[in-house]
Amino acid sequence: MSERIEELCAALSLNAIGRDYANLADEAARKKQSFTDYLKRILEAEHALRQERSRQMLVKLATFPSVKTLDEFDFKAAAGVPKARLQELAGLAFIERRENVIFLGPSGTGKTHLAISLGVRAIERGYKVRFITAADLMLQLEKATREGRYEQYLRRALLGPRLLILDEIGYMPLDKHQADLFFHVVAKRYEQGSVILTSNLSFGEWETTFGGNAALTSAMLDRLLHHAHVIQIRGESYRLREARQSGLLGGQRAA
Ligand code: ADP
Ligand code: MG
Repeated sequence: MSERIEELCAALSLNAIGRDYANLADEAARKKQSFTDYLKRILEAEHALRQERSRQMLVKLATFPSVKTLDEFDFKAAAGVPKARLQELAGLAFIERRENVIFLGPSGTGKTHLAISLGVRAIERGYKVRFITAADLMLQLEKATREGRYEQYLRRALLGPRLLILDEIGYMPLDKHQADLFFHVVAKRYEQGSVILTSNLSFGEWETTFGGNAALTSAMLDRLLHHAHVIQIRGESYRLREARQSGLLGGQRAA
């Protein structure tokens, strides 16, 4: 009989049931559980496995540079990151409301970490998320344009995800054409879906990144900031601070 059960589970792709049914049946007999309880247990096992698989798939599709969580973030080490606001954002109402989140601050202060953490939360909620740096976005958009797939790339990769994370605005100055491409992405997502942006530059300095185009920069900021949560991070780089604390960077102790 167990052979037939395994055969049917394989044919129906019921992988967790195929894996667990015998153990759970023993357990049910031991605990004198009802047939209904047993059915519930094996269906729950199947459901849990599928949830986990779909989460793994969403994480893969999101193309995070590494997976970071809010639990791993040390708020004590991050001066000026308002914990309560981050916890509020982690509730993800901003995604429901199609609002944006913008992390500003110097390099190494946890902007990417926080952006990814919110992305991971969103995935746990079943949302499709996509992470891309501004530099990679430009490469991908230009490549897609060359290959005649611009509309397809825009639709699938940039407009499809419920949450788009655009990391490192400002590290690479964009030329006029790139600034136009970037603007187009922001304009298309405006009020359609949330964007999380990170930048080492204050808004006043964005113009220099966007090809010196003041009109385009202000039109873009207008859309981005219309429904936005801006988190300004101050303080020094977490990595530098760690290095200093472990004595790797001398010169801090009094002679
Ligand atoms: P940024 O994007 O602002 O340049 P990152 O988010 O990449 O900074 O942070 C640099 C490294 O330091 C990452 O490995 C990140 O996980 C870690 N980090 C930064 N701030 C914190 C923090 N407050 N608690 C724990 N890890 C942190
Ligand atoms: Mg970063």
